[in-house]
Formats: sequence, structure tokens, C-alpha cells
Amino acid sequence: AKEKGRNNYQFFDVRMNEHAQSQLSMANKLRIALNRNVIHPHYQLKVDIRTGKPIGLEALARWNDENGKPVSPAKFIPIAEEHGLIARVGSSILQQVCVQIRMWQDMNFEFGSVAFNLSAQQFRDPNLLSDIREAIEDNKIDPKHLEVEVTENTMMDDVEDAIQILSNLKDMGLKISIDDFGTGYSSLSYLKRFPVDTLKIDRSFINELTLDSDDAAIVSAIVSMAQKLGVSIVAEGVENIEQSQYLKEIGCYHVQGYLYAKPCAGGELPLVWEHVIRE
Ligand code: C2E
Ligand code: CA
Ligand code: CA
Ligand code: CA
Repeated sequence: AKEKGRNNYQFFDVRMNEHAQSQLSMANKLRIALNRNVIHPHYQLKVDIRTGKPIGLEALARWNDENGKPVSPAKFIPIAEEHGLIARVGSSILQQVCVQIRMWQDMNFEFGSVAFNLSAQQFRDPNLLSDIREAIEDNKIDPKHLEVEVTENTMMDDVEDAIQILSNLKDMGLKISIDDFGTGYSSLSYLKRFPVDTLKIDRSFINELTLDSDDAAIVSAIVSMAQKLGVSIVAEGVENIEQSQYLKEIGCYHVQGYLYAKPCAGGELPLVWEHVIRE
């Protein structure tokens, strides 16, 4: 039995090692990708289901590996965080978003605002505010076109500090969204204290919205609470008409999801914007 235990342990050890190796190799590839500037934002529409009109965009990082195969940000963003590369990913995305906003402003294309994601490390980065200010000034864009998305857990790490950072971002003219709302452990009483414009209801609640009465109850409760607090709501991951109809019935009008549009390159976006489906 002892022998077997040791073998198991060794097996486990080898597997751990392989995992660590592949993480390291992805981190190295990511570093090369950053040097070559091949990480780009794609943009996904947020839509008002009453009118079928887009109301804004979310920028999502995209990276194709050396074989041209897309690597999911759900994989490379955590690795960027663990290997000290997230600040470079973040500033590259922000730069490109601001250049894109400048181009769209010049074309008189009205895109509303572009939200970009801030992971916990980016949010706490002392250079965050000056980096954003610089990107805004360099490209001469109106800060009302920019929005940050931060998860509840990021803010709960240090509430007082988070309130300060969010207030500074708001003072600069940016809008604030809480991302993946409902999955974290923030208490509702904090919502009152965070200077927040929008809650984004996490996709996991929308998935089975029309099949699972618990999810439906949670989503309805979030929507009515947000209405009372005067905060807007966006439902993430809307994939079918049933979900969008249900959301409309409970007064959640702003949605994002494959039903309306998948993320696409900035160059294609104005066309996608014009052709979003109407019910
Ligand atoms: P997120 O911020 O929650 O972004 C929404 C994710 O849901 C995106 O995945 C989007 O493509 C996907 N999505 C949108 N509509 C649907 C739908 O109808 N069905 C399904 N199944 N998925 C939908 P993506 O682009 O793979 O990004 C995954 C996560 O990676 C993001 O989740 C965000 O946490 C992170 N991420 C992406 N770009 C950045 C970035 O520039 N910076 C940081 N810090 N994180 C990023
Ligand atoms: Ca997001
Ligand atoms: Ca989200
Ligand atoms: Ca998410």
C-alpha cells in the first residue's frame, strides 16, 4: 500500500510539473506576443432589446498563437496575472481601444461607449489612473466614451481603497460597471457606497434563466433592486429569444450576447452595428 501511495504521489508530481511547464511556456509565448504587438481587442455590442439598437461596446482581448489558433482570454489573462504581464496586456488593449475610439469619432460613428476589463491587479496598479489619462489625452478622446468593468471581488479586496479608485475614475469622466455581478461575495449594502453606473448580471444566471426558477428569481431580484438604486443593468450571455423575451418582461432591457452579436474586429464593427437583429 505504501509503495502504491508513493507511486501515486510521483504521478501527481509529474502532472503538476507538466501543468507548471505548460503555464510557463504560455507565459513565454505571451511575452513574445506582447513584444510583437499581436494582442488585439475585439468588440461586442450591448443592445437595447426594446429598440433593437446597440447602446455600447465591450472590448475583449484576442490573441492567436504562433499557429494562428485563438487562445481564450479565460486562459491567458490569469497567466498574464501570475507572470506579471497583465499591466502590459491591459495597456496594449487600452491604447488600441483609444486609437479606435479616435477613428470612430472622426468617422462620426456613434458607438456610445467602449468598456474595457480591469483585472484585480490592474485595478490596484498605482499607474492605472495616469495610464488612462495619458491614453485619453494622446488620442484626444472624450472620456465619456470609456467605461471600466471590474468584478465585485476585485472591489471587495479592500473596499475603502476601491471606493477611492472608482471615484477617481468617475471624476475623470469614465463610467463604471460591476462585471459578473452575482457571482462574487459583495454584500448589497456596499452597492450604495460604490459609485457604480451599471451592474452586469453574470452569464451563469442567464444561461438557464427560462429553465431554472431559482435563476429567474435571482435575476428578477437583481433587476428590481437595481431599479430602486437607480443603477442600470446589462444581462450577459443572452443566446436565445426566450431569454431576451423573459428579460424584457422583467424590465431588463440592456443585453449582450451571441443572439445579437459575437465579438468582432474594430474594422467590421460599424457594419455589425447596422445589422443587429430586431425582434
Ligand atoms: P467577461 O468580461 O465576463 O466577458 C464576457 C465573455 O463572455 C467574453 O468571453 C464574451 O466573448 C463571452 N460572451 C459574450 N456573449 C456570450 C454568449 O452569448 N454566450 C457565451 N457562451 N459567451 C458569451 P471572452 O472574450 O472569452 O473573455 C473571457 C474573459 O476574459 C472575460 O470575461 C474577462 O474576464 C477576460 N478578459 C477578456 N479581455 C480582457 C482584457 O482585455 N483585460 C482583462 N483584464 N480581462 C479580459
Ligand atoms: Ca467584462
Ligand atoms: Ca462579465
Ligand atoms: Ca465572466
